[in-house]
Amino acid sequence: MCHSDIHMARGDWGDVSYPLVVGHEIAGTVTAVGDSVTRHAVGDRVGVGCLVDSCRTCDHCRAGLEQYCLNGATDTYNGVLPDGSITQGGYSTHIVVNEVFVLRVPMSLPFEAAGPLMCAGITTWSPLRHWGVGPGSKVAVVGLGGLGHLAVKLAHALGAEVTVLSRSLAKAEDAARLGADRSYATSAPATFDALAGAFDIVLNTVSAGIEFDRYIPLLRLDGTLVTLGASAEQSSLMMFGLAFSRVSIAGSMIGGIAETQELLDFCAEHGIAPEVEVFPADEVNTAWERVLDADVRYRAVLDLSALS
Ligand code: NAP
Ligand code: ZN
Ligand code: ZN
Repeated sequence: MCHSDIHMARGDWGDVSYPLVVGHEIAGTVTAVGDSVTRHAVGDRVGVGCLVDSCRTCDHCRAGLEQYCLNGATDTYNGVLPDGSITQGGYSTHIVVNEVFVLRVPMSLPFEAAGPLMCAGITTWSPLRHWGVGPGSKVAVVGLGGLGHLAVKLAHALGAEVTVLSRSLAKAEDAARLGADRSYATSAPATFDALAGAFDIVLNTVSAGIEFDRYIPLLRLDGTLVTLGASAEQSSLMMFGLAFSRVSIAGSMIGGIAETQELLDFCAEHGIAPEVEVFPADEVNTAWERVLDADVRYRAVLDLSALS
């Protein structure tokens, strides 16, 4: 369960075609294949993320960046198919997807661990890779939720020094267990003085708006603040603040299919898995309330096996 499911279902981002089934962190077993399918077979362990199709011919698709398809990728839910019907997501017993958009789930990843990698995992992996995070990098992760906790694990596994910026220190012990070197509370004004000029990358995973002017001075020369959080709130920015350390503000959206497979294989190889709480399907509303309270540790997963 991604916070985006809640944003979308509640209309935070604008038009929605109701009724809508959300869910784009899907893992399960292939039950049937079409005649021309060669990549997957009945019984294979597979996953589906945020995309179920794209044009596959534009420059971005050819570069493995289907999420930025120049002709518009088809989202797993609330997307429009060529026949005009609306795509429906993973809070369901089955989904039909073109084989090109189906990922292989390595044997060592249980389904409840593989699911969250399909969105929260790839959304944090893609910018870490794009901005070249590795040994010596100093990374701050703002917000310790579904995306944030995977950002910590992945940045740590890549060799970076990782700092968590959470609203309080309530999750500091967890952050250390996940691989963070230190935690600071964003509710404490002293945090922003203590960490001035400390980071190459600040990854913003907060589901609400943040005050960009407070985070820009945390960057070193040529540092980048990458926004992943998808709040629809407007925020203000003192543009000249960027000039003092030649810093950038960027955004990043999920990741491509090949890159998602790379992440799944990396997690299997390095023993990385999200920390999840599994909810039976009929507790979806409880789970959403707990996501909204930032109370889930750290990704809610819906078990749909009881639905049939
Ligand atoms: P989540 O599990 O709910 O985590 C969000 C975290 O943000 C919370 O754990 C909390 O961290 C912090 N937070 C929540 N409300 C806040 C508030 N009012 N003020 C300050 N901090 C607050 O959400 P998620 O599933 O990780 O998703 C995070 C955001 O990324 C959502 O907006 C989602 O739609 C977006 N997203 C974007 C992409 C993309 O492609 N760019 C992909 C997936 C999701 P602390 O308790 O540690 O402060
Ligand atoms: Zn998502
Ligand atoms: Zn395309």
